[in-house]
Amino acid sequence: MVKAVFPGSFDPPTNGHLNLIKRGSELFDSLDVVVSNNLHKKYQLETQERFDLMKEITEGIANVKVSLWNSLIVDYATNNNISVILRGVRDIADFGYEFELSMMNKQLAPHIETVFLPTEQKYFVLRSSSIKELVQLGADVSSMVPSNVEALMKKKVVLSGG
Ligand code: ADP
Repeated sequence: MVKAVFPGSFDPPTNGHLNLIKRGSELFDSLDVVVSNNLHKKYQLETQERFDLMKEITEGIANVKVSLWNSLIVDYATNNNISVILRGVRDIADFGYEFELSMMNKQLAPHIETVFLPTEQKYFVLRSSSIKELVQLGADVSSMVPSNVEALMKKKVVLSGG
């Protein structure tokens, strides 16, 4: 039985994240999607909003569970008997960052392995940060994010008068 965790800030969750979750759920016996906060990032969506959106879009996938965690991901994994951290890689810039992160996690918890999955080509250009900008400018993002994400982001733009 191999259990994996897919951590991220998911601000907002995109079809690229969802694709990775579906593929991860087929590779591993169970997959915990962990919504967390990176200290260096400023978020547009509240943690609870990101968690609720993620829960809704993964509802139909039987072996996927969504959790909130604000500490070391290796501690989440250890506490839950999880041996694999799953991360997505879009390009060489992602790889540099992800590789460093995996080295750090390996030092913190040598029994936990990081597995990288390359993005599928059609999600190559998908970035949470560009989606925020596109929504603000009134672009159609329906092919990039699930419909609940699009609805909430549009509502936020209207409420902020942007
Ligand atoms: P973090 O703040 O931890 O980087 P993100 O929500 O930005 O969280 O990303 C979570 C994970 O999803 C990262 O491993 C990232 O590389 C991956 N990811 C994001 N977008 C895509 C995509 N379009 N295709 C594949 N992986 C992706």
